[in-house]
Amino acid sequence: MTGRVYLVGAGPGAPDLLTLRAADVLARADVVFYDSLVHPETLALAVRAHRIAVGKRSGRRSTAQQFINKRLIDAARRHDVVVRLKGGDPMLFGRAQEEIDALRRAGVDFEIVPGVTAATAAAAELGISLTRRGLSRHVVFVTPRAAEGERGNDWVASVLAADTAVLYMGAGLARDISADLIRRGKPADTPVALVENASLPERRALFGTLADLPALARDTKGGPTVVLFGDVLKSALAQDDPASAAEIEDLLKRA
Ligand code: SAH
Repeated sequence: MTGRVYLVGAGPGAPDLLTLRAADVLARADVVFYDSLVHPETLALAVRAHRIAVGKRSGRRSTAQQFINKRLIDAARRHDVVVRLKGGDPMLFGRAQEEIDALRRAGVDFEIVPGVTAATAAAAELGISLTRRGLSRHVVFVTPRAAEGERGNDWVASVLAADTAVLYMGAGLARDISADLIRRGKPADTPVALVENASLPERRALFGTLADLPALARDTKGGPTVVLFGDVLKSALAQDDPASAAEIEDLLKRA
């Protein structure tokens, strides 16, 4: 007899951007393995659980994935409700598949509870739809990061092809990102936005062009950041908010 492992999305940061289902599972949890971007108030919902930090902030030490997989399986043999709490949505850039595969192989029952991902939280901050009639019918979520030993992915090709692109885990690579995209033909005046700490009180948004991206990224404060590319950024700003529109036009001219 084993318990069940729930892979739960904690949302982008704000503790109230959590599904009711996630809150219910957390309240019933015996043990919670959580990532470092999870808000303390979200964690506090797991009133009866033993709470175990397992990592995951780029550039810092984190628990090896295989070890996490093993701990989930061991925990499910001892407890009824085991929660693996991940930032955003567990099924996007969260290595969920490795955990799911390990659970399946071990015959452990599991369930996924989706969450609000950083891309949609960022769009909400900006008040800019990622899709838009006549302008953007195509959105990609992409990361330029590859794990050690992993084959590089052609993330540039997918950003080139997309009407709107949202790049995860890339703000630290802004120089290369900007250079690679421009070299492969993305116009240097493509509007970009950086959204840092979406949904949290310390949120910030920076606008500019693809050519400005390295300078914009230097201006971030080290919080989790997504980079958005595409014409939806320009037109939505221009229409809705004269002040921001003037600002972005200015930046576009300077580029
Ligand atoms: N599963 C998560 C993504 C994990 S990868 C999700 O669905 O959102 C971690 C990356 O997500 C960060 O490097 C950053 O690019 C992005 N991110 C997470 N939280 C964020 C936030 N509050 N604001 C902006 N970007 C965020």
